[in-house]
This record gives sequence, C-alpha cells and structure tokens, in this order.
Amino acid sequence: MSTDRIREFLARADPPTPCLVVDVDVVRARCRELSGAFEGVALYYAVKANPEPAVVRALVEAGSRFDVASPAEIELCLACGARPESLSYGNTIKKPADIAGAYAAGVRDYVFDAEEDLENLARHAPGSSVSVRLLVDGPASVTPFGRKFGCEPELALVLLKRAADLGLDAAGVAFHVGSQQLDPLAWDAGIAAAAKIAAEVPVRRLNLGGGLGTTYRESAPDVAEYAAAISGSLRRHFPAGVPELLMEPGRALVATAGLLRTEVVLTARKSTVDPLRWVYLDVGRYNGLAETENEAIAYRLEPVGEHTGETGPVILAGPTCDGDDVLYQRTPYRLPLSLRGGDRLDILDAGAYTASYSSVAFNGIPPLRTYCLGTGVDDDG
Ligand SMILES: *Cc1c(COP(=O)(O)O)cnc(C)c1O
Repeated sequence: MSTDRIREFLARADPPTPCLVVDVDVVRARCRELSGAFEGVALYYAVKANPEPAVVRALVEAGSRFDVASPAEIELCLACGARPESLSYGNTIKKPADIAGAYAAGVRDYVFDAEEDLENLARHAPGSSVSVRLLVDGPASVTPFGRKFGCEPELALVLLKRAADLGLDAAGVAFHVGSQQLDPLAWDAGIAAAAKIAAEVPVRRLNLGGGLGTTYRESAPDVAEYAAAISGSLRRHFPAGVPELLMEPGRALVATAGLLRTEVVLTARKSTVDPLRWVYLDVGRYNGLAETENEAIAYRLEPVGEHTGETGPVILAGPTCDGDDVLYQRTPYRLPLSLRGGDRLDILDAGAYTASYSSVAFNGIPPLRTYCLGTGVDDDG
C-alpha cells in the first residue's frame, strides 16, 4: 500500500513524535479486498486492533460489522454509527453487568466458552444467539492464545445443548487460530472440530475468528492463499453444505493503513571495545510497540531523510526506565551509522495493536497519539 499521503502529511504538519498516522482509505480498501476474497463471509472488525473513531466510521460505511469485547467498545461502535444488530460480543470473559449493558444496547450475538457465562447470558441477555468458542491449537501463530479461550469439543457440545435448554438460540461454533497466524491450513482443525459438533447438534453459524497475517519483516501469505485454504477445509468437512460464516479480522484490516513515526532519543555503546550500538527511540513497549514483546512482531523500519552511508547492527530499545522496554536484541536490525539523537525513523505497517496497547502515563509518557487521514476525515485527527 502506498504511504505517500501519510508521508506528505508528516512533512507538512510535522506533528510531535511518536505518532501513528492512519489512512482510513487504506482500511476501506482492505475491507473491500477481504470481502472480495472471502465471498459470502460476514466480516466483523475486531475493534481492539485499532479503535480510532475515524477507522470505525470508515468501516461502518464500508458495510463491516464489529467484534466487540467490552461495554466501552459497544458504546464506541454505536457512537460511530454502527447498528446494534451488527455487533457481536466476542469476548468470552464478561461480567453479568457487561452482558446486561450490552443487551440493553441491543446486542443479541454473543460468544461464550464457560457454563457460568452461559448462565449469565441466559439471565441477562435472554433469547440471544450464542456461539461456543472451541479451544484450538495455533502452533504457527506469532502471538498464540494458549489455553485461555475456548473449551474442548466434548464440553462445547454439552454447553450448546444447555444453551438451548436455557432458552437461548444456540447458533453455532466459534474459534480463533491465534493472531498473526502464518499457516493458512491452521483453520482446518477448528473447521473439522466444528463439523464433528455439527453431526450432533445443529450448527447454523461458524465463526472463523481472526488471525490473518500481515507482512512485516517476515512475509505473510496473501489474502487469496488464506481464502483458498479455508474454503478447501470448509468443503472437505462440510460436504453437504457450509453454515453461515463469520470472520473477525483485526490486524488484516488496519495494519498496513498505519505508519508510526518515531525519533531517536539517543545512540550509545556499552564499552570502549564493543562496536554494537544501542538506539533508543521515543516509542517503546509501553507507548505503542507492545507487540515487540518476545520480539513477536518485527516491524520494518525506515530512516527518514538522508542517510545514504554505511549501516551497522543495532539493538533497539524504548525510552522508559524499564529493563524490559527493549524492542529487538535477538532480531538482527541494521541502521545507518550516521544516525543520531533527533533523527527520525518510520515504523511501517503499524496500524494494528499499537495505539490501543499504549499505557496511560508510564514514566509520564502519554499514550501514542493517532492522526487519521482520508476521505471524510479532518486532517488533524
Ligand atoms: C483479537 C481478536 C480478533 C482479531 O484477531 P486478528 O488476529 O487481529 O485478526 C478476532 N476475534 C477475537 C475474539 C479476538 O479476540
């Protein structure tokens, strides 16, 4: 995707760093691209990836639906013009009051994975449609969920029957293969498990979750490869007909739409003999780059301006007084030897899971500022 408009904005407005600039027209284009590749699949944008109102509004206009995880995300989507029928409460971890609030706001679709939550849903969201989340392995996910979400298929079956007994609409099954899932075949296990459940109880709806990858330094499969693998699995496991399909892309809709500009605070060496340079940026783990934890996401970096000379290896770190605020020490990065404090770097494809993960005031550093550009958006966000 072209970042010309973003760079032009940065050159003209010269906002303080660090900042994230999002082109909502790229979000719209990605929504069209995904809708085209996954024909007949309803897209529910996972709001947590980037909850900027301009992003949500653009996706409302593009016809997207929304996967929400909290009362605040519901409020945000409704304020941005989404209809309550277009929201799915996908977080399986919710308080009774959260359910009651969602129900009062008109939300009628929920995902659950525990009996206690199911009972709360029956009490506070009577008659709603509910899908049970399956526990699936996502070995090729860069940021796997572990066993936190979902339940084993045997329990899922019991819970779907119980949902119907409680007067809820037992709609079907959901699963999530883990974010930044680089193996398009990873969906197969979840689809197979859903088909087994469908042999026992009606499964009208199948929610394929998120997980579509973005190309950072490591390249991800393109949307067409994911779509081909997933539709192959669906045909194989549901030969008599596929249920109504949902997907909840977060990263895949917004990552490439954002560029994060940061300034070098300081460069340093640790000894008189060690040539390795540390480069400290004004953005780190706590104000936007949370996904560098375990160096899971290795962003592409570009120095801004004239740095045509030699490059050398660097360790990249954030600005805070926290020893864990180191971005990359194992992943090899090289930057120009001419780089000094005050120079700027662009972090590419940073539209997902950056601003939304930013802390409020660690070391007094404010949350990552976001500017949105594009059709129908005020230039200064
Ligand atoms: C975070 C999340 C998503 C989005 O995942 P991506 O990997 O960003 O596509 C989708 N569904 C649920 C339930 C989530 O928690």
